[in-house]
Amino acid sequence: MKVAVIGTGYVGLVVGAGLAETGNSVTCVDINEERIRLLKEGVIPIFEPGLESMVRRNFESGRLKFTTDTVKAVSENLVIFLAVPTPMGEDGSADLKHVLDAAAEVASGINEFKVIVDKSTVPVGTAAKVQKLIAGLTDKPFAVVSNPEFLKEGNAVGDFLKPDRVVIGCDNAEAETIISELYAPFVRTGHPILTMSPQSAELTKYAANALLATKISFINELAVLCDQLGADVNEVRQGIGTDSRIGPNFLFPGMGFGGSCFPKDLRALNYTAQQNGVELRVVKAAIDANEVQKNYIPQKISKHFSGNMNGLTIAVWGLAFKANTDDIRESPAMPLLDFLLENGVTINAYDPQAMDATKKIYKDQLNFHSSVYDAVDNADALVIATEWNEFRHPDFEKILRSMKQPIVFDGRNLFSTKAMEKLGFVYYSVGQQI
Ligand code: NAD
Repeated sequence: MKVAVIGTGYVGLVVGAGLAETGNSVTCVDINEERIRLLKEGVIPIFEPGLESMVRRNFESGRLKFTTDTVKAVSENLVIFLAVPTPMGEDGSADLKHVLDAAAEVASGINEFKVIVDKSTVPVGTAAKVQKLIAGLTDKPFAVVSNPEFLKEGNAVGDFLKPDRVVIGCDNAEAETIISELYAPFVRTGHPILTMSPQSAELTKYAANALLATKISFINELAVLCDQLGADVNEVRQGIGTDSRIGPNFLFPGMGFGGSCFPKDLRALNYTAQQNGVELRVVKAAIDANEVQKNYIPQKISKHFSGNMNGLTIAVWGLAFKANTDDIRESPAMPLLDFLLENGVTINAYDPQAMDATKKIYKDQLNFHSSVYDAVDNADALVIATEWNEFRHPDFEKILRSMKQPIVFDGRNLFSTKAMEKLGFVYYSVGQQI
């Protein structure tokens, strides 16, 4: 099938390369000329496991192309995905500017029947808005489909190639058949393609993110309670996660959820509900609990040093909002860095992938290091902000020898309290006692 993807970011590049992987001819479009130039040279602008080789393979085979020319890409292809950003507006709503701009550009390229697929996360009613906008700009035939994306950064390639389900929101039988065929190779193991109304599809995406984020906020609050009661959050987590009605995923306490989706999507859902006279108390509580959770490790640091951190050197391992990505959007490491800087701390930062993105924001306010060991050298404390695998089994003896004070604030519960104390560390975590 001939496919164009408008917007070649985290989602667009994975979708484009993933569709090329099953033999489709895919043109990825972006307004960012530098991004397209680099992609044509084989430089992948984001870190995502497995993505680079998939992009290279399909680019070299000629199935995956890159361009800045939306109109041409639309005219030459049948299925047009919109994978542009939907950032948070000032009032918490989803800002549809990029979606509507892209839709207007797409309209100019329609020369025969096209299926326009909304991949961006958009509020209920957006498919109808896109339909109306394009219909006002062209009299050529087209159909609009809502096809939300459920991939998670860090495992985006795997999630796209083997989705738990594919959701297709559509009122047009021909378009539904085309998109179902496009996805057929990805659901051969029996995972369903769920067809529904565009409104239901749009809401499904927000509902999924809201429920996942709520699980995280729930366990985060329980972890804080565990610290007060002397219960161990891992024991409680396993005790509840083994219940098949609850399940083990998204029950790992930490420093609060971040990333480019959960924070903005929960706010956008809440905004939609408010606009429609409905109060989503659970969603609001998940947002509030998350804001509070971001302060939990900073509070522990402040308490340990009796509020006097001026002149300390603190190592921070992890800047990305989660492991296996270079994405720092809404990363809980950022409020931590701000807190440390405000308190006169010198920060020695290390992250396997997210240092370039962090440098763009913090410039020379942080010292960036090339390994976990360089970062802790002569440090008064270490804070772990991202659960990268390479942090899990460091040479603790080496760390003990090089730190000025052996204090660890583990915002991701990577280690056992008892084991760390036995090694000689003063160890703080999130709800762990053993
Ligand atoms: P991103 O910022 O990484 O990429 C978006 C790309 O679109 C950018 O490269 C930008 O230059 C380009 N763009 C903007 N306007 C354009 C236009 N008019 N024409 C062509 N290109 C244009 O964003 P993302 O993380 O890929 O997210 C895209 C959408 O997918 C959002 O709605 C997001 O909520 C949703 N989503 C994201 C994820 C995720 O994990 N990142 C997962 C599921 C859904």
